[in-house]
Amino acid sequence: MAIAVKNLSKRFGSFQAVDGVSFEVPAGELVALLGPSGSGKSTILRIIAGLESADSGEVELTGEDATNLPVQHRGVGFVFQHYALFRHMSIRQNIAFGLEVQKLAKVEITRRVDELLGLVQLSGFAERYPSQLSGGQRQRVALARALAPRPKVLLLDEPFGALDSKVREELRTWLRKLHDEVHVTSLFVTHDQQEAFEVCDQLVVLNHGKVEQMGPPQTLYEHPSTPFVTEFLGSVNVLKVETVMSMERGGHPEPSLTLPGRSGPSHVYVRPHDLEITRAINGRPAWPSRIRKLTRLGGLVRLEMALDDGTNLLVQLTRERCLELALEEGEMVFVTPKDMKVFHEPTAFVEDYMI
Ligand code: ADP
Ligand code: MG
Repeated sequence: MAIAVKNLSKRFGSFQAVDGVSFEVPAGELVALLGPSGSGKSTILRIIAGLESADSGEVELTGEDATNLPVQHRGVGFVFQHYALFRHMSIRQNIAFGLEVQKLAKVEITRRVDELLGLVQLSGFAERYPSQLSGGQRQRVALARALAPRPKVLLLDEPFGALDSKVREELRTWLRKLHDEVHVTSLFVTHDQQEAFEVCDQLVVLNHGKVEQMGPPQTLYEHPSTPFVTEFLGSVNVLKVETVMSMERGGHPEPSLTLPGRSGPSHVYVRPHDLEITRAINGRPAWPSRIRKLTRLGGLVRLEMALDDGTNLLVQLTRERCLELALEEGEMVFVTPKDMKVFHEPTAFVEDYMI
C-alpha cells in the first residue's frame, strides 16, 4: 500500500475531529476523501503530510511507518485550495523550488521544469509571474511544483475549490488525464460528490470524523451501506414505509408491495431516476400521482410529483421519455419505483428492493 492510515484519531479540545479512521490507498491510484465540510478531511490529510500530529493511530507511506517522521522526510507533495505559489518568483522558479532544495544540478533542474511545464500544458509560461496567470493555470503550476521532486504520494486538498464551476470541470478532466500519465499515488480531498466521481478510482466517504463506506464510486452509488452515503452521493426521495406499501396494482387499492417484516422502523430511499412514469397502470405496483411542476434541464426533465397521501416525490426522466409521454403540469399519471433501498433500524440492515 502506498498510503495506509490505521485507527487515526484527533481531538481539538473536546471536539473529536477524527475518530478511528482506517483506510488504504493502493500504489498508483487516485483516491478521493469525500465528506461534508467539517467531517475531518483536511485534518486527516495534514496528519498524513506530517503537518499535524494525531492523538493515536499510525500512518504508513510506501510500506514504512511514517507516524513520527518529520514533514520533509515523508516524500509527500501537497496542493492546497488556495494558491500557495511564491508571488515574487516566476513560474519556472516556483516549479524549481523543491529541486533547488534538493540541490540538483542546474541543467537537471531546467530539464525537469521544462518537462513539468509540458505536463501541465504551460510550456509558454515559464517566465511569467503568478499574478499573470488565471486561477486554473495557477493551480496547474501548484501541481507541477508539488510533482517536481517526484513525491512518493501526492495530497490534494480541495485544489479546485476556489475556482468557478466551468474551470473546475475542465481541471477535473485534466487531472484525471494527468494522473493516467504519471500514476503518482494521490489522495484527493473534496466535498463535491460529482468531482469525486469524475476524478477518482476509489472513494472514502467521511462523516463526523468517521469512515462511512469506501469503494469504487459506482459501487457506493449503487450499494450504499448507510442512509448518509445514499443521501450524500446523489439526490434521493426518502419515503415512509406506509407510503411504499399503499401502492396500487391494476387499479385496486390493495397493499401490493410487502416489505420484509422486521422489528423497528424502516426508511425507504428511491433515486429520482429510479422512478418510472406511466399513463396507465400495467399490473406493476404504482402510485397515482399528480405532476405539480415540470422543469426542463437540457437533456433531462425534473418532475415534482404529489401522491394521494401528500407525499412529494422528485422524478427524473430523459427529455425523450417526457416527450413520448407528452407530460404536462397538473396531470395525473402513475409512478413505479424500479429500485429502492430499504434501511432497517435499529439493525441498520440494508436491502435492495427491485420491482
Ligand atoms: P474538513 O476539511 O472536512 O472540512 P477539517 O478537518 O478542516 O474538516 O475540520 C474538522 C473539524 O475540526 C471542524 O469542525 C474544524 O472546525 C475542527 N478543526 C480543524 N482544525 C482545528 C484546529 N486547529 N483547532 C480547532 N478545531 C479545528
Ligand atoms: Mg478542509
